[in-house]
Amino acid sequence: MSTSVLVINCGSSSIKYALVSERREDRIFGLAENLGSAEARIKGITTGGAELELSIPNADHEKALEIILERLSHHNPQAIGHRVVHGGTLTKAELLTPEIIERIREATPLAPLHNPAHLVGIDATMRLFPQLPQVAVFDTAFHQTMPSHAYRYALPKFLYTMHNVRRYGFHGTSHAYVSERGSELAGSFKQGGWLTAHLGNGSSTCAIWNGQSVDTSMGLTPLEGVVMGTRSGDVDPSIHSFLASNLGWDIYKIDKMLNSQSGLLGLSDLSNDMRTLIEASDQGNEDAALAIEVFCYRLAKSLAALSCGLPRIDGLFFTGGIGENSALIREKTLAYLPHFGFNLSKDKNDSLKRGTEGRIDAGAGPQIWVVPTDEEGRIAKETQHVVEHEAASAKKSEAEEEAVA
Ligand code: ADP
Repeated sequence: MSTSVLVINCGSSSIKYALVSERREDRIFGLAENLGSAEARIKGITTGGAELELSIPNADHEKALEIILERLSHHNPQAIGHRVVHGGTLTKAELLTPEIIERIREATPLAPLHNPAHLVGIDATMRLFPQLPQVAVFDTAFHQTMPSHAYRYALPKFLYTMHNVRRYGFHGTSHAYVSERGSELAGSFKQGGWLTAHLGNGSSTCAIWNGQSVDTSMGLTPLEGVVMGTRSGDVDPSIHSFLASNLGWDIYKIDKMLNSQSGLLGLSDLSNDMRTLIEASDQGNEDAALAIEVFCYRLAKSLAALSCGLPRIDGLFFTGGIGENSALIREKTLAYLPHFGFNLSKDKNDSLKRGTEGRIDAGAGPQIWVVPTDEEGRIAKETQHVVEHEAASAKKSEAEEEAVA
């Protein structure tokens, strides 16, 4: 990448940013948090790896973006790439135009917590930097190659045809980056069948055949699938009527419970943080131990289920805070999959340190790799690709118009 791209990820009260240039070591990144409150601040890493901490009391998204961009303007970013969780039926990264912004707005019912925050960020950067090309990169886009038998729910057809109720999948930029980088490391360059396990606060799995997503664990929303920090993952859908009939809960309370009070936190009654649970389990906390076991078992079950989408399994990539750092979780998960021929090298697994990529199988059976994810890098790459493509198309139509004249 010869230019730099500013990557923005707007949440409801925070903004993650990264200035991505050719060398990963040169990356400037940070987080503006507690926006809209007296505690609003920016924390990050700036030029030369120096730490930045800046109090910006009561700053809103626009003010924070203004400060971030002001600080970065001398680096002369050529474009802005926005992470957008839900792109609805959009299948690839898109240059932000009024029409694309409207499509993101239309997808809001599918991601009510995320898309409105992204739109606030987009609105602010479009106003502040109208001269910079801006691109939306969607978490859902990578999974748009799933076949209909993977993305359709067994529900009445009109819910799909009239209301877009289907499986979309998320974490697409991570699965795309990790599978591409991993298959490159493995020397197969996007060929063959690979499973990815992105394990962070949100977690999901993906099956990838010849570089394309063929199935994934998340669905209409990021609640479906494996156990997460505070999200339940798969449950019997009748839990809604059970809780409504027996406990008198309304839909909002049930939704909140499934999204914010379940998963590792719900099972352990202690924490959503895997590190805390591993420590507690080591000290004899049985609820923490059970939470870890359910996490690993359900994860293995998800990987086994997704393998149905692959003609063969060449290997598995672990990523995300848990996948990259926890030898224990990798070992426990693979212990549930011996019939797939996975043959983990205990030494290699234990010796892999934070942020390092490496192969951790013992040679026979499908390969097993740890590949640190780089969602910002992927968003920057896709942004640049869109901008270059647009510039080439504009040049071509100019030349065609001249030829006609
Ligand atoms: P996010 O989805 O918010 O980006 P991350 O990918 O950073 O989250 O992952 C956060 C999770 O990674 C937390 O549950 C954290 O405890 C876990 N984690 C980080 N380091 C370790 C470690 N050394 N061992 C186990 N879990 C870890």
